[in-house]
Amino acid sequence: MADIKLLPKDIAELIAAGEVVERPASVIKELVENAVDAGADKITVEIQRGGIAFIRVTDNGCGIKHDQVKTAFLRHATSKIQSENDLYSIATLGFRGEALASISAVARVEMLTKPAECEMGSRYVIEGGVEQTLEEIGCPNGTTIIIRDLFYNTPARMKFLKKDVYEATAVASVIDAIALSHPEISIRFIKDSKPALTTSGDGKLTSTIYSVLGREFSSGLISADSTTAGIRVSGMISKPVYCRPTRNAQYFFLNNRFIRSGVIAKAIEQAYKNTVMVGKFPACVLNIDIPFSKVDVNVHPAKTEVRFSDEKAVFEAVYYAVKNALAAGDTRPQLNLQNTAPKKEPEPFTRMSVEEYKKLRNAPKAETPTAADKVYGIGLGTKTVTQPAQGLRDFPKALVSDKPVEVSFSKPESPKPQPPVQTFVKTEEPQREEKPYQQILSVILSDDEKYETASFIDDSEIEFKYIGEVFRTYIIVQKKDSIWFVDKHAAHERMLYDKLKREGVTEVQALLSPVSVTLSREEHRAVLDNLELLKKNGFEVEEFGTAAVIVRTVPASLVKTDVMFLMCDIAANLVKFGNAETDILDDLYHNIACRSAIKGGNQQSDSELEEFARKVLSDNSVMYCPHGRPVAFELKKSELERQFGRAK
Ligand code: ADP
Ligand code: MG
Repeated sequence: MADIKLLPKDIAELIAAGEVVERPASVIKELVENAVDAGADKITVEIQRGGIAFIRVTDNGCGIKHDQVKTAFLRHATSKIQSENDLYSIATLGFRGEALASISAVARVEMLTKPAECEMGSRYVIEGGVEQTLEEIGCPNGTTIIIRDLFYNTPARMKFLKKDVYEATAVASVIDAIALSHPEISIRFIKDSKPALTTSGDGKLTSTIYSVLGREFSSGLISADSTTAGIRVSGMISKPVYCRPTRNAQYFFLNNRFIRSGVIAKAIEQAYKNTVMVGKFPACVLNIDIPFSKVDVNVHPAKTEVRFSDEKAVFEAVYYAVKNALAAGDTRPQLNLQNTAPKKEPEPFTRMSVEEYKKLRNAPKAETPTAADKVYGIGLGTKTVTQPAQGLRDFPKALVSDKPVEVSFSKPESPKPQPPVQTFVKTEEPQREEKPYQQILSVILSDDEKYETASFIDDSEIEFKYIGEVFRTYIIVQKKDSIWFVDKHAAHERMLYDKLKREGVTEVQALLSPVSVTLSREEHRAVLDNLELLKKNGFEVEEFGTAAVIVRTVPASLVKTDVMFLMCDIAANLVKFGNAETDILDDLYHNIACRSAIKGGNQQSDSELEEFARKVLSDNSVMYCPHGRPVAFELKKSELERQFGRAK
């Protein structure tokens, strides 16, 4: 081996830079954090080509005095900690004094900075760690830092960068996270000269969430705020039905610092357990306020990983905050039908005057399909008529024109009204897009003729009215101005499950003839290890040879199920969950509840179903089945009206 030597300063700098500066996103994270630490309330970030070619961060923070500008770029130079003690109570985002040194080692950097109290500002240029210029100039208060040609002198690192779009996405995520953790700062992000994000800086988390994550996300949120053992957890969490296929929408902040944390993620998921479908994950923006002394943020150069001195306390604080928020704020999901209602008024030329309509209605042409014929698809077979059908779009116009054209109407089996799906085969012009039913209605009904709408009786005060059941699975009821759809199996399963959790198995039934069940070696072992637990929950099971067990009793609600099948299922899960007793019990209750619940397809009387639906809808704890599927959906009258084009 060669002799051991101290590395030259420039190589040491490049190695150190590698730890902090991995890609454009990490540069931006450091620069924006500096701006936040500088007390700015307006920060603008601009990038070109994913940040590889150009980054500019402008803030209106405290700026750097002329005689300290150079120092800021030295490694381990920081204004944020003075002594060892400060290291144990870090309130700023930065503190390692490494970012500016690292960034300037691998790029061309230019800084303009001026504290408000100074008359003149400074311009400093440093490239690849080598100072180029330091001069006094006039500039606005605050700091602007420009980074050009990132990694121009480290081609190896350059190679690891991804395509510009990926780097830009990583930058955007960093900015999202910082924006979400600082609603009091107005953050603007400009990507390739186009605005990509603007937050208002009004201090409200909800407005920041709206800007960053969009309207759809914001609509399904519940606010959370509770303090357990001195740890405050506050922010917004998603309603279980709005959970997503990935964990990407989980943002955690520790004292307003974006972090990743397995403990927090686990606590959240535990709190959502049994309300979220398998493979779906809650979304959240949560800040955890914890005394600075109870957490070490100095375990990772990028400072996104932290160490808690009491993990259990953090877990519990997050768990209870989320659980409480869900208990208080979750409401049943609402059905929003796809928007087929017309967005704007139909174009004027498609409107028909009352006269035109009356003339049309009174026209004594038996062979002419009427408007209703067309709408409901009651046709006359194929024949030549005097009206041209130009597709539904120009339908009324077509009815008053007189050019002959070949039209074919499909003839329905029965004379009952059909949805508007008839085929118009046109020979003259290419077929145009069909317009939805309500648009045709609004065309046919002029304002004078809308009396029909006025005469309908409003019964939206009805407290509860059982409408019926469809597909032997969904109960439909009206409650005030909403229609409710209840999944009878899911709801019943949830109720049984909750009862089991509260009371355990209360009724046990002996089997007329005990059932012997053959199991795998592992399952056999697992069942024998859990005989006590099984007995407590209604299953009296005995060893029967080396590979089988005998089941003598089961919970009373299960006498009619296939005991062998059930026991195999339970045994397999006992193996899966090992010693985790809560999971075992949870699973056992799922199993019992699922098998005891009324099934889709089973028949019940209307009065039974009515009573059941009443019970479900009056109990807000029955919101999801134990697998996380919703048990009931609401369809508001207003949504129906929107669909029918009666309201916007
Ligand atoms: P750290 O943030 O860990 O202190 P940096 O290398 O990021 O280290 O910054 C060094 C110092 O430069 C900071 O401590 C701060 O005093 C100053 N500084 C950096 N960026 C800004 C800024 N945008 N506004 C004001 N001061 C800044
Ligand atoms: Mg910093």
